[in-house]
Amino acid sequence: MKRVLLLGGVTEALAIARRLGPQHIYSLAGVGRVPTDLGCEVRVGGFGGAEGLATFVQQAGIDLILDATHPYAAQISHNAVTAAKMAGVPCWALRRPAWQAGPDDDWREVADWPELITALAPFQRPLFTLGREPLQHLHEIPAHQFWTLRALDVYPGNERCEVIGARGPFRLQDERELFETRNIDVLISKNSGSTATEPKLDVARERGLPVLVLKRPVLPEVDRTFWSVGEVLDALRNSGHSNPL
Ligand code: NAP
Repeated sequence: MKRVLLLGGVTEALAIARRLGPQHIYSLAGVGRVPTDLGCEVRVGGFGGAEGLATFVQQAGIDLILDATHPYAAQISHNAVTAAKMAGVPCWALRRPAWQAGPDDDWREVADWPELITALAPFQRPLFTLGREPLQHLHEIPAHQFWTLRALDVYPGNERCEVIGARGPFRLQDERELFETRNIDVLISKNSGSTATEPKLDVARERGLPVLVLKRPVLPEVDRTFWSVGEVLDALRNSGHSNPL
């Protein structure tokens, strides 16, 4: 029996998991929602680094690691490749194409948090859509700025920061309203490449606002790389790994 360990946590991974039979395992870190209606096994929580993942792969009789995690979840992607080598199984990955700036976009790439804060200095009303990371910096907000911070869940803000808890997909009209009501003058985003979160970029363009884009991490080389869910499902079927439901 062939057995896939699917590392997920994003929409495309869930779409693959929905097509996997009961011998396969869908693995989640445990930060988002855990689906309860899948035909495959669902496992929640870390493995304890690459060594822990390799041990799991060997003990569970996994013969393929399929990395379909978020493009900024670089740690687990590196662990997947290291663990696959240690366990002697192949590692495949579903990668997401990055968004590309158009002629009317003013995107400014920043490498890390210090670069981001420097680039942000001229602005007053930033909208952060980076997840939870900015929460650690709420005490550092300069006096001339008021931050709007959107994360998956709501957290306490402070007198210079409002935290909004919201999960995509986001609609263009709602994003327009968010920018309008908060008087946003700059957007801060990862380049996730997801259609679910793309409308904010349309609004920034409409309003002529700059976007500070956090650079994508470098992801490791894998045995096979795919760019769509359909390609992955075909490859699983053709290699005898899958019994699509
Ligand atoms: P990360 O920095 O690459 O991983 C941190 C640790 O979390 C890993 O070392 C691993 O723990 C555990 N982990 C991550 N993904 C896992 C998975 N699918 N199954 C089991 N353990 C996992 O990841 P992150 O950026 O914190 O993201 C966590 C999860 O959220 C990822 O699965 C990712 O697909 C999803 N996600 C991330 C983002 C983002 O912007 N980063 C956005 C949307 C969804 P151990 O070392 O103990 O094994």
